[in-house]
Amino acid sequence: MSMDDMLGPRPVFTWPDWYTPNRRGAKGHDHHVANGRHPFGAPLAHNGETCGTCGHRRSNSWGRKTYYKCGLRKATAGPGTDLRLKWAACRLWMEGACSPST
Ligand code: SF4
Repeated sequence: MSMDDMLGPRPVFTWPDWYTPNRRGAKGHDHHVANGRHPFGAPLAHNGETCGTCGHRRSNSWGRKTYYKCGLRKATAGPGTDLRLKWAACRLWMEGACSPST
């Protein structure tokens, strides 16, 4: 009898529907999400909210594109600090409107 026979089928990992893995320049996010955290590493809020509804999010317009950052993190011009509005909220989620970056 093999280990698989004794332990049953191994669970198959699937990414949460709010997250797309392997974005350019953001490999560390995959590690956090695979371990049940927000892509930036904080615990998830599990409150049904998203980064898109959080008062800490900031918008950055660059040409015709708008990039979103978290106001609680040091922002860079690179993709590693971009957030996606559909990401599940982290524990630091706060009700409020989005502000432009300063
Ligand atoms: S504080 Fe708000 S915008 Fe920042 S990562 Fe958490 S939920 Fe997203």
